[in-house]
Amino acid sequence: MKYFTRLSLTLLMGFMAIYANGQNNEDGINHCGKADAFNSQQKLANYSNPLTENYDLKYYRFNWLIDPSQYFIAGSATPYFRVIKDNFNEIYFDFSHDFIIDSIIYHGNTLSYSQPEEYQIRIIFPDNIPNGTLDSLSIFYHGAPPNSGFGSFIQSTHGNGIPVLWTLSEPFGAQDWWPCKNGLDDKIDSIDVFITTPEIYRGASNGKLVSETSVEGGMKIYHWQHRHPIASYLVAIAVTDYTVYTHDVPLRNGTIMPMVNYVYPENKDKAEIGTLNNVKVLQFYDSLFVTYPFYNEKYGHAQFGWGGGMEHQTMSFVVNFGWGLLAHELGHQWFGDHITCGSWQDIWLNEGFATYLDGLTREHFFTPTDWYNWKSSMLNSIKSRPDGSVKVDDINSVDRIFSSRLTYNKGAYLLHMLRWKLGDDLFFKGVRAYLNEMGGKFARTPDLQRNLEQVSGVSLKEFFKDWYEGQGYPIYDVKWENLDNNKVRIQLSQTTSHPSVDFFEIPVHIRLKGADKEYNIRIDSFKNLDIFEYNPGFKVLSVEFNPELWIISSSTVTNGVITVGNNKTPNSQIKCYPNPTSDILTLNMQLPVNQQLQYQIIGTNGRTILHGIIRSDNQSIEVKGLPPGAYQIIVNEHNKVLYNGGFIKA
Ligand SMILES: [Zn+2]
Repeated sequence: MKYFTRLSLTLLMGFMAIYANGQNNEDGINHCGKADAFNSQQKLANYSNPLTENYDLKYYRFNWLIDPSQYFIAGSATPYFRVIKDNFNEIYFDFSHDFIIDSIIYHGNTLSYSQPEEYQIRIIFPDNIPNGTLDSLSIFYHGAPPNSGFGSFIQSTHGNGIPVLWTLSEPFGAQDWWPCKNGLDDKIDSIDVFITTPEIYRGASNGKLVSETSVEGGMKIYHWQHRHPIASYLVAIAVTDYTVYTHDVPLRNGTIMPMVNYVYPENKDKAEIGTLNNVKVLQFYDSLFVTYPFYNEKYGHAQFGWGGGMEHQTMSFVVNFGWGLLAHELGHQWFGDHITCGSWQDIWLNEGFATYLDGLTREHFFTPTDWYNWKSSMLNSIKSRPDGSVKVDDINSVDRIFSSRLTYNKGAYLLHMLRWKLGDDLFFKGVRAYLNEMGGKFARTPDLQRNLEQVSGVSLKEFFKDWYEGQGYPIYDVKWENLDNNKVRIQLSQTTSHPSVDFFEIPVHIRLKGADKEYNIRIDSFKNLDIFEYNPGFKVLSVEFNPELWIISSSTVTNGVITVGNNKTPNSQIKCYPNPTSDILTLNMQLPVNQQLQYQIIGTNGRTILHGIIRSDNQSIEVKGLPPGAYQIIVNEHNKVLYNGGFIKA
């Protein structure tokens, strides 16, 4: 989801309920008060209702009657569920009490029900249903739904007063308009959606449009079918006088998939420009990650009136067709839909990724300046306050869950920093492994961490502790001094913007600039006041810290004399080559006089495999006997790490 302005929730509400028969709602209910309904009960981080944990949702058939000129829904929901506990004689759904329940039909008989608590319906079966049984029932209901969150059920107009109706359930709003499991714990394996509406309108939804059928009374039935696991909040409908057009999208697996666009007739020209651009973006993501997950159905857009976009599975709802909005919602199809966050604490797994994917399109399709400016605007937002974690610390606050500064921007930068730490190859491999393992499921932050660690062999425990749970960012003090023979000495220190983190472990990028040359240094780890010496081969005129904005940081860079204390040894630049190697690895350095340095080679399991003392400026290490793979190599002086790098044994 992405929204442009921080709209007050109350602006989106205040809709007077009107029933389908055209009469005014007798009690004149104004649904303003419902936005905070979810606050009344503290739930688990995944918002699951423990009473709904005794069954597994397999399928839903929805039959909805929608007239977009009416704030009203009538119809039925038919869930198929598998019983997964013993003593199953009643079933709970999360569902508003604002509806008239017409009937609940089970094997041709009517069942009784009660509504024990807010947003709860309890349906009683005549007998126990044995564990393992696949069963179903139908709930028929009608009424004016309540409205929560960002407007879970909205009736409005576009153009010259043309009615439009749409739903947007994220995060907690599915229960406002259909009987569901509202938590992040059970995806429905597949759905069929039948929308019946006056024939001047079209109904849009998830999956494939399998038929549109005219029926008596000047009505049409739009039948949408989706055969992939889907979280409740991603089920959506939108109805108005849409114009429809399609682009063909060739994918990496050889499929040519339709991108289906449902747009307001008055916006068709602009829409076509935007959606055609989005075809290129879809191909870019499809080649960078894994094949578009829903390639055997479609991707699509349906225009709606909310001030942003929402990544409904296979059919994003969007207010307009701007590059960034479409790139963001499309990115969610992999990160948000195919993999869905398994807790609202981890919503950055949806929003951080979607935001970063939009950024990647700036890097891929735009100029280096555009990409730099995109990163710079993220950093300005993130650093506008010294505090705040990517992990959501209050899952009952919709504002905190969808914090643009922390969930979207800092979440996106967390990914950018992982890419910097691991390198492009391992980062994207790790993300693809995460998509392959967690696709179709709900994921938590450790699921991403595990995949990146397994692929790279690098422990990310400290990284996630600092950057996911911790608040703020590092503030660097960089001093530099020209020495004789074109050498330069650099001293580094770090403080933090927030006391929750003592020291951020993150490689830093320093650029030495001469008259017409530059020399780039990456320092993977250091301790405060550590001193490094380099020989770039030219006279350094200026020093830049983090010049390509790889990390979230503030810094001051000063030129001056650096005092080397008695117990401090300037660390020469250390090189390790060739990489990859099959037999001999060489460590090249200017070995300090009267100091003994050691090397350690560490395997992917974190254990030291080889170690020894460094006796020359060109120390050879025999690695012939090591199994092929990625290794870490560390050079240290007593307990101080001077060099921390890696190599591949071919
Ligand atoms: Zn989003």
